[in-house]
Amino acid sequence: MTTLTLGEVTVSRVIELDRSSFPTTQMLPDSTAEAIARHREWLTPFWDDRVGDLGSRIGTYIVRTPQSTVLIDTGVGNDKRRDGRPAWHLRRGAFLDDLAAAGVTPAEVDAVLCTHLHVDHVGWNTRLVDGRWVPTFPRAKYVFAGEEWEFWRHEKDDCIADSVVPVVEAGRAVLVNHDYAVDPWLTFEPSPGHTPGHVCVRLRTGAGEAVFAGDLMHRTVQVAEPQWSSQFCYDPTKARETRRAFVERHADSGVLILPAHFPRPGYIVRHGSGHRFTPAS
Ligand SMILES: [Zn+2]
Repeated sequence: MTTLTLGEVTVSRVIELDRSSFPTTQMLPDSTAEAIARHREWLTPFWDDRVGDLGSRIGTYIVRTPQSTVLIDTGVGNDKRRDGRPAWHLRRGAFLDDLAAAGVTPAEVDAVLCTHLHVDHVGWNTRLVDGRWVPTFPRAKYVFAGEEWEFWRHEKDDCIADSVVPVVEAGRAVLVNHDYAVDPWLTFEPSPGHTPGHVCVRLRTGAGEAVFAGDLMHRTVQVAEPQWSSQFCYDPTKARETRRAFVERHADSGVLILPAHFPRPGYIVRHGSGHRFTPAS
C-alpha cells in the first residue's frame, strides 16, 4: 500500500508477512470453496494467485497525525518461540529496516495501539536484547483496552509473556477504556467478539474518516458473508453481531476501512441486498 493522505494525516503500512498460513476455508470454518467462488469476480483485487486463495497480510499500520506518530498492531516479531507455526517461529525478519524505510525509527514512535492481544498483533511490542524482552519503541506509550488485558493476563500464552508482560513491567503500558481518545484524531471503539476487549481505532480528519478494524474481519469475503466468524474468534456469535453492525454502518459511507489482515484497504459498498468491498485507489 502506498501512503494515503487524509487531510492532515498520513497512513502507510509495513508488511511483515505477505500471506496467511491458513486457507480461507480453514480460517472461516463456516465458509466453503463453492460459497467463496460465488463472490470470485468482485474479489479479484484481493486475490492471491500464488496461493489460489484470498490474500492476507500481517504487519503494522503507521499513522502520522499532527501530534503523534502511531503504530497500530505490531505483527509477529523476531526471535519468538512459536512452536507449531514455522513461519512465525524464531523469525529473523527485516521489520525494523522496513519501518525505517517507511521513515520511522523506534524512538520516533509516540504510541503503539493494539486492537487486541493476539500473537500476530503484539509481536514487535518487544525485542530481544541481551536475552531479555524489552519494549521495541522506548518512548512510546503502549495502549491496550483494560478489558482485553484483564482477560489475557490470566492466560498461559507465550505471546502475553514475551510481548505484553514486559511492556507492562517496564511501565510503558496504558490501560484504557474501550472508547479512549489517543489524540484529537484517533479514538478507540469497542468491537467485541473476536476477543473480549477487541477495539477498532477510528481516525477522524478534516478530509474524511478511516477505521483500523483489527480482526473484526480476516478476509474480504466476510464483507458479503458477515456471518462467517474465524476459527480464532473467542465468541463467534458476538463477533458475527459486531461484524454485521459494522458492515451495515459503513456501507456507502465513504469511510476508509483498514482491517489488519486485508491485502489492501477499501470501502464497503451496497450491492443488491448485500455488500461488497472495493479497493481504495
Ligand atoms: Zn490477527
